Amino acid sequence: MSAVTQEKTPVVLQALTGERLAINPGCSRCGLCQTSEAQNGYAVIRRVCVGGAGPKNATIMFIGEALGSEEVLQGVPFVGAAGRVFTDCLVEAGIARDEVYVTNVVKCRPPQNRVPRSREIAACLPYLLQEIEELKPNVIVLVGSTAMTAFLGPLSITKVHGQVFTVEGFDARFVPVFHPSYVLRRADDSTVRKKFINDLILVRRFAATGSIEKPRQSNHYVLVQDRAAFDGLMRKLFQADVVDFDCETTGGNPGTDRLICIAFSVREHEAFVVPLEVNGTRFWGVVEEDHVRSELKRFFESEVPKCAHAGALIDIPFLRALGIDLRHYDFDGLVMDYLLDENKPEHQRCLKELAWDHNDMGGYEAGLEE
Ligand code: SF4
Repeated sequence: MSAVTQEKTPVVLQALTGERLAINPGCSRCGLCQTSEAQNGYAVIRRVCVGGAGPKNATIMFIGEALGSEEVLQGVPFVGAAGRVFTDCLVEAGIARDEVYVTNVVKCRPPQNRVPRSREIAACLPYLLQEIEELKPNVIVLVGSTAMTAFLGPLSITKVHGQVFTVEGFDARFVPVFHPSYVLRRADDSTVRKKFINDLILVRRFAATGSIEKPRQSNHYVLVQDRAAFDGLMRKLFQADVVDFDCETTGGNPGTDRLICIAFSVREHEAFVVPLEVNGTRFWGVVEEDHVRSELKRFFESEVPKCAHAGALIDIPFLRALGIDLRHYDFDGLVMDYLLDENKPEHQRCLKELAWDHNDMGGYEAGLEE
């Protein structure tokens, strides 16, 4: 979690000790009251100082920039085309639109939808601060650069989106996210929408648990210790629609390092571990080892679809060193992770992170049960 330590003080900190105001459709504290209008056919609709919408006990508050034409016409924040993207992405993240509170930093419409100026934001903040104090949300989501800058100072939203911040004077935690209008403009790049949804998932998790960590699910690991159990596992693998596997080794060089064990999974949260050596000693007797190796070869070279994380880096070279020519390797978690998000930091591409991100097998580090 980060605390705000910008050289330029966010405008909200300057307003903290100032007044609080209830929504006032007659407000003229800044010049935006003159421009807050939209065309509806031949009619011009004027609407000034539009407050937020949502249940008064909402734990999540979304703060956007300012009214657009559709917001002026309907008198509600986050509507129109970008609002529909927002609602769709909320649903994909497991959040119902009617369980969150939505509002804007600036309660009127700037001319030609330009970005509100600092003095306009400062003039309008008493309304937003009143809304925050009444709602007392756990999480405040800063939607887009304008809302983010007002609370956190001049950061880059492409760098800090999805991070959790504390701000002096507020009990809630702050999470900046992209603006849905940016997601809409970048419809050609599905990773933008994916990042937006991932940030919303983080917001949901943080509001519910106070942590951005996924709740850990217990995983069941079974150590295959004798030939009967091994043969039973092989029957299960040959009948599976798809088999996930993972090789554990003593290092990364198949020429000098050794394969210690192979884990197989055919359903979520359950894996079977076939040991090959324990503490440098062969696990199986000579006859059993021949059987295990030949059955492993038969399985890995079979038509059964297989997948692994980072298989191209580790698993395939080590299996090849055992004389196994892997076939029907249909899915590689690491390769897919690059395809989903090529800009993800390298330190988040390790197996542990991939397990949490994509399949809930975060108990990867847990000990064997049997
Ligand atoms: S933008 Fe805010 S402060 Fe300015 S006129 Fe509208 S409601 Fe008042």
